[in-house]
Amino acid sequence: MATSTTKTGQPLDRAQLEPVLRRRMFYTPSFEIYGGERGLYDYGPPGCALQANVVDLWRKHFVLEEDMLEVDCTMLTPEAVLKTSGHVDKFADWMCKDPKSGEIFRADHLVEQVLEARLKADKDARGQTIVVDEAKEARKKKKIKDTKIEKLDDAVVQEYEETLAKIDNYGGDELGELIKKFDIKGPTTGAELDPPRAFNLMFQTQIGPSAEKPNGYLRPETAQGQFLNFQKLLEFNQQSMPFASASIGKSFRNEISPRSGLLRVREFLMAEIEHFVDPEGGKKHPRFEDVKDVKLTLLNRKTQLAGSTKPDVLTIGEAVSTGIVDNETLGYFMVRIQDFLLKLGIDHSKLRFRQHMANEMAHYAADCWDAELFTTYGWIECVGCADRSAYDLTVHANKTGAPLVVRETRAEPLVIEEYQIDLERKKLGPKFRKDAKSVEAAVDALSQELREKLSLELEKTGKIEVQTPGVGSGTTELDKDLIKIEKRKRTEHVREYTPNVIEPSFGIGRILYSLMEHVYWTREGDGARAVLSFPPSVAPTKVLLVPLSSHQDFKPFIKKLTTRLRRIGVSNKVDDSSASIGKRYARNDELGTPFGITIDFQTVKDGSLTLRERDSTKQVRASEDDIIAAVKALVDGEETWEDISKRLPLFEGQDLD
Ligand code: AMP
Repeated sequence: MATSTTKTGQPLDRAQLEPVLRRRMFYTPSFEIYGGERGLYDYGPPGCALQANVVDLWRKHFVLEEDMLEVDCTMLTPEAVLKTSGHVDKFADWMCKDPKSGEIFRADHLVEQVLEARLKADKDARGQTIVVDEAKEARKKKKIKDTKIEKLDDAVVQEYEETLAKIDNYGGDELGELIKKFDIKGPTTGAELDPPRAFNLMFQTQIGPSAEKPNGYLRPETAQGQFLNFQKLLEFNQQSMPFASASIGKSFRNEISPRSGLLRVREFLMAEIEHFVDPEGGKKHPRFEDVKDVKLTLLNRKTQLAGSTKPDVLTIGEAVSTGIVDNETLGYFMVRIQDFLLKLGIDHSKLRFRQHMANEMAHYAADCWDAELFTTYGWIECVGCADRSAYDLTVHANKTGAPLVVRETRAEPLVIEEYQIDLERKKLGPKFRKDAKSVEAAVDALSQELREKLSLELEKTGKIEVQTPGVGSGTTELDKDLIKIEKRKRTEHVREYTPNVIEPSFGIGRILYSLMEHVYWTREGDGARAVLSFPPSVAPTKVLLVPLSSHQDFKPFIKKLTTRLRRIGVSNKVDDSSASIGKRYARNDELGTPFGITIDFQTVKDGSLTLRERDSTKQVRASEDDIIAAVKALVDGEETWEDISKRLPLFEGQDLD
């Protein structure tokens, strides 16, 4: 796996970044004084502010700009809903157990870890890296006891690499075979592992005091609530299609082995969009023209199945017209997802879209592209963009009888020529008694193809046989006294269809963590100082106010500034501690605060202030009004620091360190 680097080209050292994030309380393990609980994290003040800003931007970028209908549905979900949606039977990962230690592993992750460790060791053995033996180290940390650390044959290396490229495509049996074939044993015991078995990822619960057994689940996605409200939302939208609903809320998944900090947790914030589109006419999007020339980095299914991870850079126009991306609506959202991530400060070179392989796709999906972000943990799926076809609306409508469909008056009535059936219903009762209804239903369900075939037979022989499951021997004979089949014309004025759904699904925690890695770098000085270069719009705090000292004369200025900044919605913090100004700025660089205002004796004399920019550490000096206007323009994204430093005088007078 390639290593991740910071914007200054240094290798990104997670061992340095993570303590900063914990110390600054971006996030912290939940219930830590009770020993913690794996896969659960709390966010501290900067983490909360960052999350709120990201969610705010998401609302503006999607709900507002795309005119979506936001809903907030419950997390507690009755079993019947998730049974119908397929989650009770199919929302599972493959786990395998070490019978000796009782340890449980997620089967695909275990294969992945072991093969990656072997490849790493092989690379070291070939002298291609200068690292002492990271693989041994990694295995020690992960407690992986694997004896295969020597140099591998070229063919084996190729086989491992191909397996890794396809790792998400394997089912339980195949994973079991890979474990045997590659001789993967219990990592801590060396024991033979039990065959993989499916583990459902939902948390089951009991809703209400009278339930005798579990009758509900914590939702694993926000989507189902949106589907169940489809009819009401369509009505709210004055029956107009296409439209999208959106929802932000917690989801829960009982991950087999939570790991990698915020990246794989058991409770996380999701922001999901369900865009309902007419399946006829190729799922076009009215704004596709606006985005068709935008380039995306695409790793398609075919490339992965060939054992490669080399992506192509294509315009979305090319990708859709050549069928790599299935349709315009899916392509439109992929571009909007990319725009959103770049706005947050995601590094463009660490973003790619990877298409799901057939086996990897969720049970409801027809096509799916993940926006993946490159981190020190490798490429991580942060946004899923799936075409769920008409699956969910169809299954819920079939189960409940609710008409989850769109009815549209046709501009031109449609004349349809079709085979129609007339049954002598009065005669069916006496002849078939209790089975009459089943016979009738079976006849009504006959396809046009079968009707054509049967009409010819009826004409030739005077009778036909119809499949009637559950009635007698399973087939029922009907003669021409009972049934007539004729080709006739029918005029349809209203068109009825079940919309297809394109679903962009964002894991906010994964995006936050990846963003923190992407904006992290270290500044040379006395020791490498951590800086988080969040764009002003998402930075937890926008401005740090630093008086030169705790001198009384500075206090009124501080008070006035904080009040003025708060009034215009700019979050700010005062640091009037006794540390040097440079130290105080360095502390806030770790929090990603983009701007600093210094109050010094010149301020007391003429009211002027200095404004410092975090990344360049350059300063300008101007009047209070000018500085406040500049901060507002910077935070709102109306001006850049370059603009400001051109129009306000640069200040080089103060040695901050
Ligand atoms: P999925 O429905 O599996 O495609 O997940 C949608 C999004 O939710 C993913 O792209 C992730 O960003 C996020 N996600 C899924 N599982 C987890 C997890 N265990 N921890 C954190 N985020 C997750």
